Amino acid sequence: HQPCAAFIGLGNMGGPMAANLVKAGVRVLGHDVVPEAMESARSNGVHVVTDPLEAVAQADVVLTMLPSGQHVISAYQDSPGLLSAAKPGTIFLDCSTINISEAQEAAELAQRAGFRAADAPVSGGVVGAEAGTLAFMVGGDTDVFHEIHPLLDIMGARVVHCGENGLGQAAKICNNMILGISQIAVAEAFVLAEQLGLTDQALYDVVSKASGQCWALTTNCPVPGPVPNSPANREFAPGFAGALMAKDLGLATNALDEQGVDAQMGRLAAVIYSEFAQGDGARKDFSAIITSIRDNSAS
Ligand code: NAD
Repeated sequence: HQPCAAFIGLGNMGGPMAANLVKAGVRVLGHDVVPEAMESARSNGVHVVTDPLEAVAQADVVLTMLPSGQHVISAYQDSPGLLSAAKPGTIFLDCSTINISEAQEAAELAQRAGFRAADAPVSGGVVGAEAGTLAFMVGGDTDVFHEIHPLLDIMGARVVHCGENGLGQAAKICNNMILGISQIAVAEAFVLAEQLGLTDQALYDVVSKASGQCWALTTNCPVPGPVPNSPANREFAPGFAGALMAKDLGLATNALDEQGVDAQMGRLAAVIYSEFAQGDGARKDFSAIITSIRDNSAS
């Protein structure tokens, strides 16, 4: 029996994710506060409802794909919150990227109200959401993980159980901290190489086969040429927008503070991307950090 899903938050990510569920034969009741998002979901076969509680009341799984943890927590509990409308046995599955502590709080709220809960943030961006190739990082009990796995398989290509509630977010935030730091490192190396007279291609040919090899270089290469599909070849059209990298590194900084971890590189990457996202870097791919490094360099 296919579960009935309520999908709350039909934006850039939630819209295509919900559409893929519909394509796979899942009955999806959807809601967004923005009428255009509802309209677009309707055209993809989502049964849209203006009252989110109407969607939740029929659902076996309530998916949320919202901007921040505060959005998730208030959607769950503000009166009348989603938790007030669910039927017994419902799983609350939050796919947004939010603070680990907020994910734990959201799960506790759901559990205290008698429901089950998991966090399942994603990587893969809008392209992955549309193609159904997202990676899901899941935090929650094993039985919940097994129950939601088929739904996640529809929307994604990779599903990993990371541990208890909140640990999906933990995995996501740790990954993106590595990514933010390594994208800056790769960009700095290219700018230094350019100043030294080394061509981009020569640096790429060496590093892509040497110990500096990483995704930020071989997939998201911040200069045009060596990797034809990287955002640098299309004036840094995202890809993964600078604003989202700044957001995720802010979440990483919160986790570092809460845990008292001495992570100087992660904290510095958060500062660098937060400044970057104050300008037009917000809408560009985060590999465009190379342009600010060039601009701030001598000559
Ligand atoms: P988005 O802003 O396009 O979508 C969020 C949607 O939530 C909007 O349509 C908004 O109207 C809706 N919304 C807000 N409050 C609501 C409420 N109370 N009830 C119903 N709908 C509500 O953002 P997005 O790009 O889809 O991102 C969603 C989440 O996914 C974020 O947490 C983001 O960090 C994460 N994420 C995004 C990407 C990406 O590439 N866009 C990649 C990975 C993870």
